Amino acid sequence: MNLTVVGTGYVGLVSGTCFSEMGNNVTCIDVDKSKIEKLRKGIIPIFEPGLEAMVAKNVANNCLHFSTELKDGLKNADIVFIAVGTPMGEDGSADLQYVTSVAHQIGREMDHSVIVVDKSTVPVGTAEKVRDAIQEELDKRGVKIEFHVVSNPEFLKEGAAIEDFMKPDRVVIGAENEIAMKVMRDLYHPFTHSHDRIITMDIRSAEMTKYVANAMLATKISFMNEVANICELVGADVNKVRIGIGSDSRIGYSFIYPGSGYGGSCFPKDVKALKKIAQENNYEPELIKAVEEVNDRQKLVVAHKIIRRFGEDLSGKTFAVWGLAFKPGTDDMREAPAIYIIKELVKRGATIKAYDPKAMDESQHFYLKGVKGISYLNSKYACVPDADALILLTEWKEFRSPDFGELKEKMKLPIIFDGRNQYGVFNLEEKGFEYYQIGVKNVK
Ligand code: NAD
Repeated sequence: MNLTVVGTGYVGLVSGTCFSEMGNNVTCIDVDKSKIEKLRKGIIPIFEPGLEAMVAKNVANNCLHFSTELKDGLKNADIVFIAVGTPMGEDGSADLQYVTSVAHQIGREMDHSVIVVDKSTVPVGTAEKVRDAIQEELDKRGVKIEFHVVSNPEFLKEGAAIEDFMKPDRVVIGAENEIAMKVMRDLYHPFTHSHDRIITMDIRSAEMTKYVANAMLATKISFMNEVANICELVGADVNKVRIGIGSDSRIGYSFIYPGSGYGGSCFPKDVKALKKIAQENNYEPELIKAVEEVNDRQKLVVAHKIIRRFGEDLSGKTFAVWGLAFKPGTDDMREAPAIYIIKELVKRGATIKAYDPKAMDESQHFYLKGVKGISYLNSKYACVPDADALILLTEWKEFRSPDFGELKEKMKLPIIFDGRNQYGVFNLEEKGFEYYQIGVKNVK
């Protein structure tokens, strides 16, 4: 099939590349000229394992193309995917300006029948808005062209995006036209042929499914973080409680790890957007509101532990920070706990020496740009000399089993704040460390 993907961010670029990998002819469009120029030179603007090689292969095979001009992609397209950002608006709802702007542009430029697919995460009712925007432009032009709007929310995870897209747990398709549904099924068949993982439904339910999936995962995280905070107060160990409850097959082990709260581009904004959707329909979503409040508080739990240990005034203190990205496997720092924790510490006069395998550029140039008191080092051990404490904020594999002897030798004080509960098994107290984790009462 001939496909056009509008928006070449994490979702658009990965989807477009994976579709081309399955033999489709794909054109990826973006308004960001520098992004398209880079992609044309084989430079991938984001870090995602396996993406660079797959892009290079499909560009070489002439299956994957990049352009800033929508009309280049629309010319022969059977399907146009809208995969632009839907950031959080000022009132917490999803900002649909990029989605509707693309819809208007499609309506202005299409010259044959196409299927338009909402792949961005969008509130219930957006497909109708997209349909109206396209129709409005066609009416202005005085032309009649048949088109169908389909909802196909994306469930890939940053850091494992290629794997998730190539072997999805499920593909959700919301469509009200049988032919459009059949075309979408055919498109996804190669990704799901081992057993049918395509779930079809009406458009509104498909739109809702994406928000509910993310809100459910965020709820598990906030629930476990709340449990962790209670464990700490009563002298229970949340790591043991986690294993105790996860062994119940009705509960399961996934997504019940305590930590420094969820971040990233999706959970925070999608939980907020779902809250807003409920409120706009005169329903007060108490549980969803609590999920968000618990998370906001959790992001600063590590900072508060540090303040309790070192005092309100942190001037003269140096902290080594391992990990800036909101999770391992990505350079994405959107809403990362590291942003909040580091800002809190430097506000109190601390000096930060940070290292992250992939997110240091993002930190320096965007998320902690201009924040004084931070320096970036080129390895994890380079951060620790003279550190009053080490703070682990992202559980990258390279941080999971460090040389504690070397750490102890280099650090000013052998103190570790583990914001991801990675080192509990290493008996750090016996090795002479003061060790703090989430949801476990500290033993000095
Ligand atoms: P992103 O910000 O990384 O990329 C969006 C891209 O769209 C940018 O490159 C931007 O320049 C481009 N764009 C904006 N307006 C445009 C226009 N008019 N024409 C062409 N390009 C335009 O966003 P993302 O992380 O890929 O997310 C896209 C959507 O997918 C969002 O709705 C998000 O919630 C959803 N989603 C994201 C993930 C994820 O892990 N990142 C997972 C599932 C779903």
